Formats: sequence, C-alpha cells, structure tokens
Amino acid sequence: MKFKSYSLHNFREIPQIENLSEEQKFDIEVVGTVLPFRTNNYVVNKLIDWNNFEKDPFFILNFPQKEMLDKDSFNRVATLLKNNIPKPFLQKEVNKIRLKLNPNPAGQESNVPIFEGKRLNGIQHKYREIMLFFPSQGQTCHAYCTFCFRWPQFALNEFKFAMKEADTMIQYVKANPEITDILFTGGDPAVMKTRFFKQYFNALLEADIPHLRNIRIGTKSLAYWPYRYTTDEDADDLLHLFEKVKKKGINIALMAHFNHPGELKTREVKKAVKRLIGAGVQIRSQSPLLRNINDSAEIWAENWKEQVKLGIIPYYMFVARDTGSQDYFAVTLNRSWQIFRNAYNQVSGIHRTVKGPSMSCNPGKVQIVGVSEINNQKVFVLNFLQGRDPSWVGKPFFAKFDPHAIWFDELEPITGESKFFFEDLYYEMHA
Ligand SMILES: *Cc1c(COP(=O)(O)O)cnc(C)c1O
Ligand code: SF4
Repeated sequence: MKFKSYSLHNFREIPQIENLSEEQKFDIEVVGTVLPFRTNNYVVNKLIDWNNFEKDPFFILNFPQKEMLDKDSFNRVATLLKNNIPKPFLQKEVNKIRLKLNPNPAGQESNVPIFEGKRLNGIQHKYREIMLFFPSQGQTCHAYCTFCFRWPQFALNEFKFAMKEADTMIQYVKANPEITDILFTGGDPAVMKTRFFKQYFNALLEADIPHLRNIRIGTKSLAYWPYRYTTDEDADDLLHLFEKVKKKGINIALMAHFNHPGELKTREVKKAVKRLIGAGVQIRSQSPLLRNINDSAEIWAENWKEQVKLGIIPYYMFVARDTGSQDYFAVTLNRSWQIFRNAYNQVSGIHRTVKGPSMSCNPGKVQIVGVSEINNQKVFVLNFLQGRDPSWVGKPFFAKFDPHAIWFDELEPITGESKFFFEDLYYEMHA
C-alpha cells in the first residue's frame, strides 16, 4: 500500500467524508486550524468504521472534534474563517489560542542537558538511566493523535526539539556511564527512512559503548502504518538492521502505542508484529487513558489480552496530559484508578506487567496506587515510578482525596503536612 496523507487542505478528497454534513466538515476546518490534523489511507480504510464515525474511536483519534476547543476560541476561529481573513492575521490569532493551551507541559525544556557549554537541543535527560533522542528526520507522525502533548512540535516552530548529528549524542552518552537506555522519540521516529536509522544505529554500534544496553523506539507506527515493517520498500532493510543490533548484544524495544484493541485486529498489524518479533525485537505497549476513546475497564482488559496474545508486553497506562484538548479527554484520577484496577482484575498475571495509571509530571512519573484512608481522612496513595531524583522511586506517599482532580498539580498534602516529601529537593534542583 502506498502512503497517502490527508490534512486540512485535502481531507475533503477522502471518499468517506461524504458521510459528514457541511457543518461537520467546517468544524474540522476550524479546530484543525488550531490543533494539528493529519490522517492517512490506512486509518481511513482499515480502522475507522464510517457507518458509526461520530462515535468511532479512530475517527476521534485523528479528526479534530468541535468540543476540543473551548467555545470562545472555536467561535473566534469560525468567524475569522467565514470572513476569509488574511492569512497572517489568522495565524496571529491562532497562535494566541495555541499559547493558552499549555503547549509545553511538565517543563520539558528543563530536561535538555547542557554539555561542554552547549545546550543539546534534540536530547532530553530527565531520568538517570534513560536518555531521549529526537532525530530530526523523525519529528512528524504517520497521523496525528488529537490528544497529543507533542502537538506544539508540529504546530509551533519554537517548540521543536530535534537533533541531526549522531556524534554529539554519542559523546553525551559516553560521558554519562549511568545511561543504559536510549529512547528514539519524536514525533514518530518510524517515519524515518531506514537509511537514517542505519546512520544512527551504526554510529552507536561503532562507538561500542559498554553501558548501552537497550535501544528503544517510541512509535505509533504499528497502529497507524504497519506497512512500515511489511511492504514499505525499506521494510526488510529495517528488520535486518534491528537483527544486527540485537546480534551485537543490544536489546531493541519498540515502545508501541496502542490506544484501543481495534488497532490490533487488522491483518496488517498482526503481520508486522510477527515480523518484528521474528527479528528479535521486543514490543512493549503504552497508552493514555482517554475519555471518548478508551475510558472503560473492558476496553483496557481486551487491549492487554490481545497484546499478550500477539507477544506484546503491556507496559504503561498514562493519565492524559494537561495540554491541548485535555478537557475533552480528561478522566478524573479517581476514575482512572478504578478503570485500571477493574481491568487489572480481569486479566491473568502475565498481563500485569503494566504500570499505572501514571502522570508524567515535572518531578517524575507519579502512579495512582489507589484510594485509602488514614486517620479518618480519605487519601490518594501515590508512588513515583520515575523521579528526577532516583531516590524518590518506590516510596508511597499521600495526597488529600479529591474526586474532581484530573492532574497532580490539583492535589494537596494531607491534613497536618505542609508539603510533599520531595518538594524541598525538587525546588533546590530548579533553583
Ligand atoms: C517516561 C519517560 C521515560 C521512560 O521511562 P521508563 O519508565 O524507563 O519507561 C524517559 N524520559 C522521560 C522524560 C519520560 O517521560
Ligand atoms: S503518534 Fe505519538 S507523537 Fe504522533 S501525534 Fe500520536 S501520540 Fe503524538
């Protein structure tokens, strides 16, 4: 299958778009002017059920929905479009709206390391053992998720993290012997041609870094473009490259992103998974919990079961980030925990490799362990799965129960305590 991408300028060419009313198409244009919009022929033809598109999780996952913008912003953009306002003025107004949507959650710029006097744009190093690498050729995706916190990278130039040279990255890894894992991320690094993968991976192999154990690739390609591993012209080459890395003793983990079991059911994805596993690649899966897409225990249990059946290891359930269209997707922390627990209860132990629900916050990845009671006070029990300071990990702590909270910054220490245990060190680190 040949890749065909659809965005704001050509989505009306999608044959199935005839199912939409003029108003629905206009809504897509309005919201798609503010938030990035991209889909492709695989999603359109193999994932979306057009007979029921308004409720279809994959339609909602790719096509901007009216309610993803607040009413004022929506009306403002709708009026500008209807009046055919000149482009530069429209851009200015649209950027104002974007900047109100918390385009840079969890202080990602503070993860960019300074090395030999230079800021390494294209690297983030927040947790001791794992470094994120943003190859410049991998900063788009086969389709854009409407919930994505990386949206400013597609929509706003000033928020791009990207790096071209393998050299600087390798120097940095060599200088930091505690790094065992490199995560290639984006965007979606799997949009890169195999020749770019080769440049990076061969450079890493040649550097022969003894402490490098795992190369991870964070990707949604299995769900959005499984042909990347089957019929794309450089698919075989890519699999051979993975085999080669594996033979050198470095583990390759594909950190796959599956939001819904429907993404695991096509013939194409099954074939891709089989080929990857055949090449020695470990596939792990993660996804945020999203209202309107996957907010039920049954969906998650089915997702994990389907994954394990195919040889995929369930890894993380995330809480949707505080950015972009969060309100549309938000599930309260209390409900997130209940969904996690009810799904976890339905599956056997081999599915329970999954961790969550977890919030990727500035201090670290905070897991909602559950709701409990101490001294007659209802509390959330929380735990760091990752911390800016590794000593925070695995130490349960408490916050006042709040049935409406959807993110960590809304939580408060329990009565009698003025701060969370990590706060002093955290502020010291940021001073
Ligand atoms: C989640 C995350 C990682 C990976 O953490 P693991 O728990 O090892 O999967 C690395 N860096 C950042 C910034 C992250 O948010
Ligand atoms: S594929 Fe990943 S990076 Fe790309 S839009 Fe979706 S969640 Fe964001």
